[in-house]
Amino acid sequence: MQPEKKILLSEKEIPRQWYNIQADMPNKLLPPLHPATGKPVVPEDLMPIFPLELIRQEVSQERWIDIPDEVANKYRIWRPTPLIRAYELEKALDTPARIYYKYEGASPAGSHKANTSIPQAYYNKVAGIKRLATETGAGQWGSALSLACSFYDMECIVYMVKVSYRQKPYRRSFMQIYGAEVIASPSARTQAGRSVLAVAPDSPGSLGLAISEAVEEAAGREDTNYALGSVLNHVILHQTVIGLEAKKQMEKAGDYPDVVIGCCGGGSNFAGIAFPFLQDRFAGRNIRAVAVEPTACPSLTRGVFAYDYGDLGKLTPMMKMYTLGHNFMPSGIHAGGLRYHGESPLISQLYHDGYIEARAYNQTEVFEAAVGFAKAEGIVPAPESSHAVRGAIVEALQAREEGRAKTILFCLSGHGHFDMAAYDHYFSGQMEDTPCEETELAANLADLPKV
Ligand SMILES: *Cc1c(COP(=O)(O)O)cnc(C)c1O
Repeated sequence: MQPEKKILLSEKEIPRQWYNIQADMPNKLLPPLHPATGKPVVPEDLMPIFPLELIRQEVSQERWIDIPDEVANKYRIWRPTPLIRAYELEKALDTPARIYYKYEGASPAGSHKANTSIPQAYYNKVAGIKRLATETGAGQWGSALSLACSFYDMECIVYMVKVSYRQKPYRRSFMQIYGAEVIASPSARTQAGRSVLAVAPDSPGSLGLAISEAVEEAAGREDTNYALGSVLNHVILHQTVIGLEAKKQMEKAGDYPDVVIGCCGGGSNFAGIAFPFLQDRFAGRNIRAVAVEPTACPSLTRGVFAYDYGDLGKLTPMMKMYTLGHNFMPSGIHAGGLRYHGESPLISQLYHDGYIEARAYNQTEVFEAAVGFAKAEGIVPAPESSHAVRGAIVEALQAREEGRAKTILFCLSGHGHFDMAAYDHYFSGQMEDTPCEETELAANLADLPKV
C-alpha cells in the first residue's frame, strides 16, 4: 500500500489561535485613508458598520489571536479539513513531484469562506447586532454568511449581483435554506440602487454596486452591520486556520513544501494557506509562495502598487494595494470570485517586498486543469480553485522536466458543484480567453486617486 492518502487531524488539533502576519512582516502596512478626507482612517470611522473586536483585529500587531470557544465549536462541524496527497494526479502527470492539497470544499458552504463568516457573525452577535448585510457575486460568500447567521440566530441580508441572481437560482435557494433574505442588486431598497435603476432599469448590477447597497443598509440601521468576505486583514487572519492545520499535517506526513500555491481574488484563501508558512520563511527557511490569478483580472501581475478605492462608488477607504483601478470591469469569466480589481493590502505589501510570486493563467487552460484533476482525484473544483490546480500542475511538470523531486502544496478552496453551467460552457468548445487589454488597463490606471 501507498503511504497515507488523507492526512487527518483530530478535532483537538484544530488551531486555538489565528496567526497574525502583521507581527512578523518586515515592512508594515501603510494606513487606509478616508475616501472623502484622504486622512488615515480611525476606528470611529468604521464603528457604524463593524464591531469593535473586528476593528481591533484589523489593526492588531499581536502575533497570535485566540479563537473563541464558540467559534472553535462551529469549526468542528467540518474542521480540521483533510490534507490529501494527490497520488493519482502525480501518476497522471508522470511527475517526480509530491503534490498535496488542502480541501476547503469540505465546509457546509462548500468553500473556505465559512472560516471567516463564522467568527464575523459571532463577534457581531456578542456586540448586540441583530442583522448582517453583505454583497455576493458568484454566491459563495453569501452562502457562507447565511450559514453563519443561521448558527447565531441573526438575520442575513444578501445583495446579490442581478446577473448572478438570474443565472444561479440554486445559489439563491441555498442561501434561503439558511434563512437569508436575498435581494437582486440593483434594488429599490437603497439610495445607491434607486439611483442606478432610475437611469438603467435593466442594469445587470456589479459587485461594486452591491457593496454600496449593503454598506448603505448597514450604516443606516443601528441593529445592522456589514460583513466582507475577503481583502481585509481580519478576514485573512481568520483564514490562517487553513495553513496552521496544513503545517501540522505536512509534519505528520514527514514532508515540507518547497512551494505553496493558492488562487487569488481578494487573496484570503491564498493568504490563509501561505502566511503560516511565510512565518518560517521570515525565520530563514526556504519556501516559495505562489498566487495564481486569471489573465482577465491580473491585479498582481499587471496592476500597480498604489492607493485605490475598494469599490466603484468610492465609499470604502482607499487602501495601498496592487490594483487595476477601481473602475476596472473584468470580462465575464466563470471564476466570479477572482473578478476583483484590487488585492489584499497584506498580500500586496509582501508581493512588493519579494516574499510572494504571482502567475496568471487563461480560463481555458484553467478548466483543462480542473477536468484533469477531477478525473484523477475525483473532486470537481470550483472555477476559482482551478487556478490553483493549474498552478500546481505547472510546477509538477517543471519538476518532471528538471528530473528532480519537489513538494507542492496547494489550497483547493472550494468545490464546483454549483458551477455546472461553467463546465458546460467549457465542454461546448465556445469558451474564450479574454486577457485584459493594455489600453483599457492604462485608461483605468490613469484614474487612480491622487494621494
Ligand atoms: C471567493 C472564493 C475565492 C476567491 O477569494 P479569495 O479571497 O481570493 O480567496 C476563491 N475560491 C473560492 C472557492 C471562493 O469561494
